[in-house]
Amino acid sequence: MSDPVIEARDVTRTFMISSGFMRAKKPLHAVNGITLDVMRGEVLGIVGESGCGKSTLARMMLGLLTPTSGTLHLDGQLVGSADRIEVARILQPIFQDPYSSLNPRKSIGDIIMLPLLVQKDPDPRTWRKRTEEIMDLVGLPARVFNNFPSQLSGGQRQRVAIARALINRPKIVICDEPTSALDVSVQSQILNLLQDLRAEFGLTYVLISHNLAVIEHMATRVAVMYLGRIVEQNETGNLFRAPRHPYTRALLDSVLTPEPGLGVPDTHLGAAYPNPIDPPPGCTFHPRCAAVLEKCPKQFPPTLRANGGMVECHLYADGGGKKARKGNRK
Ligand code: SF4
Repeated sequence: MSDPVIEARDVTRTFMISSGFMRAKKPLHAVNGITLDVMRGEVLGIVGESGCGKSTLARMMLGLLTPTSGTLHLDGQLVGSADRIEVARILQPIFQDPYSSLNPRKSIGDIIMLPLLVQKDPDPRTWRKRTEEIMDLVGLPARVFNNFPSQLSGGQRQRVAIARALINRPKIVICDEPTSALDVSVQSQILNLLQDLRAEFGLTYVLISHNLAVIEHMATRVAVMYLGRIVEQNETGNLFRAPRHPYTRALLDSVLTPEPGLGVPDTHLGAAYPNPIDPPPGCTFHPRCAAVLEKCPKQFPPTLRANGGMVECHLYADGGGKKARKGNRK
């Protein structure tokens, strides 16, 4: 088994949020006690609804936010104490929106070679050649070297963002919704490019997406987040074939089927997403859970690990797992 390149231990990130005029601020635990290993060479998919904490977790990995408590190690270095430039050499982001993530006043060549400048690469004479090489690898024609972002298509701009992320050979890439701003026709090209580059450079990806089809296509392992917690984690095939947490089941059931006549699927989510400033007691998913037990509103569920995965749910603590696993997806 490979070694972990990201190690999160009981990581929490709290924001103090105003709950109204003249009212005291209340804590919002955007990430709430996450323990997670990302293994070298894998693609860890992180899924969950908006506001579940996946982007906050990614920003902590990038060193843009510090954990309120807990520890986060990046390739053995403690994030927060490590030099930001050193973190940038290890880990690079690819963001959702290639329109706003590129400086409109810089040429494509300058944008791609910027990390070499920022990271104080010792050999500026090689920068031009290395930029042309990475442009070729991501499928950008050499003729756009002196163009500006506004002269490129959305797919080409995302290729620029990928080239910029990879030019100094990072070990880890955080892909935050890398295709959701692109036309459907371009999305699969970018995903296939990311797959090819991972094989070429031996990269580790953390892939954040609300698109389960993207996660199933790309990820080797999946973590499902709900209200700042990882509620289920497993290898991709196992998770899609046999989801255990009721929230994972609801997410998978909510994927629209291409079969005509079946209509909009029922997500079995009984209530709206709760206010994260005032989360429900016990299992925070209980107001929406189709399998809620009497103890769920009273007791926080235990974390159970089995068959290479983990699930945080009372159903699996008292022999109810067999019952809950009936109805696995075909
Ligand atoms: Fe549902 Fe209870 Fe499991 Fe929470 S702990 S997901 S409420 S069954």
